[in-house]
Formats: sequence, C-alpha cells, structure tokens
Amino acid sequence: MPAGDTPKVINDLISDAGIPVSVAVSDIADPLFAHNGVTVQLLRLDQIDPVLSGNKLFKLIPNLIAARASGFDTVLSFGGAYSNHIHALAEAGYRYNFRTIGVIRGDDGQADSHTLKFAASRGMQLIRVSRQDYRRRHDQQFADELARSLGEFYLIPEGGANPCGIRGSMLLADVIASSLRDQPPGQRMPDEILLACGTGTTMAGLIAGLMKSARLSVADKLPCIRGIAVLKQGEFLCHDIAHMIDAMRSPDDADVSWQLETTCHWGGYARFPEALAQFVSAFEHRHGILLDPVYTAKLMSAVYQRIEAGLYAPGTRLLLLHTGGLQGRRPDAGESAT
Ligand SMILES: *Cc1c(COP(=O)(O)O)cnc(C)c1O
Repeated sequence: MPAGDTPKVINDLISDAGIPVSVAVSDIADPLFAHNGVTVQLLRLDQIDPVLSGNKLFKLIPNLIAARASGFDTVLSFGGAYSNHIHALAEAGYRYNFRTIGVIRGDDGQADSHTLKFAASRGMQLIRVSRQDYRRRHDQQFADELARSLGEFYLIPEGGANPCGIRGSMLLADVIASSLRDQPPGQRMPDEILLACGTGTTMAGLIAGLMKSARLSVADKLPCIRGIAVLKQGEFLCHDIAHMIDAMRSPDDADVSWQLETTCHWGGYARFPEALAQFVSAFEHRHGILLDPVYTAKLMSAVYQRIEAGLYAPGTRLLLLHTGGLQGRRPDAGESAT
C-alpha cells in the first residue's frame, strides 16, 4: 500500500473498531498556566474505549488489517509483563477473531502480572522467554524458531513499531483536526503538540500525518511537535523518528517542525521516583484525570516544568496527547513496558 494513503479497508475496520473520528478534549486549568498565559488542552485518546484505547489501538489496527489481508489468523508480538501493547493486542485478538501469542520478557517464575492475567483471559497464548532470548526479538532467526514450534504467524514488533504502526498513527492528525473543529477559527490547531515517546512510532506517524493533512483550513498553521522521551539516553530516537518520517514522505508534503526532549525521563524507562508519584497524585487530585506512570506522567510533568521555566510566550496554546496506558496503574504494576 502506498505511503500516505489510508486504504478504505482501514477506515472500515476502524469504524468497526469504534475509533471515533474525533475524541474528547479536556481543558486543563491551572494557576501556573494562567500566570504564564499558556493554554493547555489534553486529547483524550485514553477515553476511546474502556479497554482498547490509547495510541496502541492506532498502531494495531493497520497491522491486523495487514495480517488478515495476507491470510494469517495468528498474530504474535513481544512485550514485558506490564506491556500496554500486549494488553491491547490480547483484547483486539479477542474482539476481531485472531489467535494471539505474546512472547513475554522474563521466565523467572514470578507470579503473573494483572496484564498477563488479563491477556490470558482474552485467549492470548503466553510464552515466557529469558531476558537473554528476549534480546533476540528483532532477529529473523528467532522468529523462524518460534514459527517452527508455534506454527505460522503474523509478527508485530514490540510496541507496534513498524510501518503499519506508523501508518495507523498518521490517523492521529485527522483525529486532532476533527476533535478541535469546534474551536474558534484560527485556533483550530494548537501552537505545539506534545506527546510521550517510547519507540517514537506514534510521534513519527503524527508528524507524517500532519505533513499530509488535508483537513486543515488555510487559516491554521501547522503546529510544532515535541516528543518527551521516557527512556534514558533517548537521543538515538531522533534518528529513528527522522527515518520513520522519511519513509512516509511524499514530494508535496508540508514541513512540520519537531523536537525531542531527552532529559525528562526521571531516571529511565519505567522509573517512577517518589517525587514523580507525588506530582501525579497532586495532578490527579486537582484535575480528576488519571495518568499512567510510564508515559503520560512524564509528559505532564515535563509540560509543567517547561511552562514554569518560562519556555512558552504568553498566548501559546499547547495540546497534549493522553496516549492511554491506564491498565498499567493496577496495584502490582511495578515495572511497565511498551
Ligand atoms: C506505548 C506508549 C507510548 C509510546 O508510544 P511510541 O509509539 O512507542 O513512542 C506512549 N504512551 C503510552 C500510554 C503508551 O502505552
């Protein structure tokens, strides 16, 4: 399928899957924001569906379409014991009639996480592999070995990070434009969109989608996109993201400026220090909006820090993506994964 085109079949599956064209937008009012003259809104991808929501839904759907189109009824993917992606895949397989297999990092005999219990309840076959074997998740040879013992499957990489995942994330540009349609003319697009990045697939897709966005009125200029890397030493992601964007680029695409922040990870992937926990509970108490500990907590705290540091001129309008992940808030969730 050509880069940039959304085939009708995706639209059909997406309307089946209940991905709405527009989603709720929450205004976040805070004295700090008012003091700095900055407007903050939150796009509620977490509210699309009680179970199958967030950015993982967008990355999964085109993968499932591709799997079905090439005749696979089994889909295999990889993740940690608290993986949002594994959780979403198990649910999607259950709803859309795929056999699903989750290759799970760690075989040290620990009790199952709530995520894995849920996945098993949705019929997902769980294969626990050692951390050493898990490192081979990108090797074709490992996939071949798995296929010999499990039968043929369509493989989705960890986190849904593949061209189908990028293509699904491109739909976010339309979702944003439709969700903001009722704002006053000239304010339909924010100045900046911020989101949390693990693999950067969602960010790359959003950027590629905006480059092609047909629904923007001429009065609206394209927003700048800022990613917040949730892992340590995330500089390599800049290269990955640029590469993914280039793979989707066509000659008549607009330019979208983007930047990645690599110092807002709070110690590394799935690290959740006490000060961040306190920030999250204060935020939730004040605004009544839940954040997940791995991604949206770090996004939100980065936004507070940036506004506090005076990095935004008065009048700036920010839109944050709530990418979901709330299944990861269950009591036993100590460590999470893409
Ligand atoms: C997986 C995930 C992300 C990161 O998505 P990438 O496309 O890997 O960058 C962000 N937020 C939540 C809640 C996620 O589950």
